[in-house]
Amino acid sequence: MVQATRLALAVVLLFSLPAASQTGSASVQPAQSTASSAPAQSIDVKAAVDAYLAKMPPAQRARSDAYFEGGYWLMLWDVLLGVFVLWLMLHFRWSARMRNLAERITRFKPIQTALYWIQFILVFLALTFPLGVYEGYLREHKYGLSNQNFGQWLRDQLVALALILVLGAVLIVPLFGLVRRLGKTWRVWGAVVTIVFVAFLNLIAPVYIAPLFNQYKKLEDARIKDPILQIARANGIPANDVYEFDESRQSNRVSAKVSGFAGTMRISLNDNLLKRCTLPEIETTMGHEMGHYVLNHQYKGLLITGIVLVIAFAFVNWGISYALARWGEAWDVRGITDVAVLPLAAILFYFFFFITTPLNNTVERTMEYEADMYGLNAARQPDGEANVDMMLGEYRKLDPGPVEEFVLFDHPSGRTRITAAMRWKAEHPETSSAEEMTKKIFTEK
Ligand SMILES: [Zn+2]
Repeated sequence: MVQATRLALAVVLLFSLPAASQTGSASVQPAQSTASSAPAQSIDVKAAVDAYLAKMPPAQRARSDAYFEGGYWLMLWDVLLGVFVLWLMLHFRWSARMRNLAERITRFKPIQTALYWIQFILVFLALTFPLGVYEGYLREHKYGLSNQNFGQWLRDQLVALALILVLGAVLIVPLFGLVRRLGKTWRVWGAVVTIVFVAFLNLIAPVYIAPLFNQYKKLEDARIKDPILQIARANGIPANDVYEFDESRQSNRVSAKVSGFAGTMRISLNDNLLKRCTLPEIETTMGHEMGHYVLNHQYKGLLITGIVLVIAFAFVNWGISYALARWGEAWDVRGITDVAVLPLAAILFYFFFFITTPLNNTVERTMEYEADMYGLNAARQPDGEANVDMMLGEYRKLDPGPVEEFVLFDHPSGRTRITAAMRWKAEHPETSSAEEMTKKIFTEK
């Protein structure tokens, strides 16, 4: 999946670390029957889509919709609470006090920035922790999506906190150095530094970050590995290995991802996918992930992130000048080169990324749709694809309205994806699979 934009946002705003990501589809069945005279529109696409959507029992569908729609409101609450806490830091001069403490400890500017950073993160996360517990733990359990007890969940959060403290400092220290040296032109170089940082994070993520949360190992089962590598070779992907990871530690969600950068790039699938899915379903998922790889989505994502960041930094620059001219003295923040300005910068980032959510989602969703198309062509398993899309419907609303999907979805909805699969199948009737069509995915619960 393409996480560059999201990753940059997360790092800049200092939230959580990159979550695992998403799914696609693929399999390698020799297609034949070019000679056949099968009518092109051999199936009714809409009826086929509705038949798949009907596989999820109504009660479960209602629960999935409620979960996903609740997420919209959480996005809003996250922003409101985050901005409120950041404002408290400015208004009560906590930010200025943290800076003063850092200045008393050392005269060395980069260390001051790092010391401020640690205080800032600890205060911010402490005050937003209750919402974090609700969102990340209580709510996931309420909807039966989590396999973790509180201790296990907290352990993951503490690991993420340590990463944010260390990696955030690695980004913030040079950024403030740039602001101090360059003045107004910091925003362009700031975007460059941030992109290099995100590329660096992508590079080390599979090797040093992901293993802190899950165990990764090479997929050994030849019955699954061989067909996947066959698709990879056919698509010019120089892979000798596929990785599996134990996401069942956290949840029952099926997922797969492309992670890494340049030399560390790899395709991984989670153990839930292996447990719950048939080979055609696994193949179509892997075909989707290979699509991300072949279509260079990682690199395109980075480029787009760079452009967005230049605009974001320009906005932040303007907002800081505006706000400090009015309230700088009251907050005891000396200027843009003063690290105590960070809460204000974060408020402006929140605002910017909140407003541009539809744009960021659309960039990501468009790439996901491309990967779906790629997966269908690479794996030739439209029915397997439709079943996987239904499983993703456990945590993503299956059939939203068009505006809702455009604004709020970072992946295509179940209906959109299954429609694409059935449309593809209508043109390739020989790939139809009765076994997949009749497979029961959900047990009433
Ligand atoms: Zn994807």
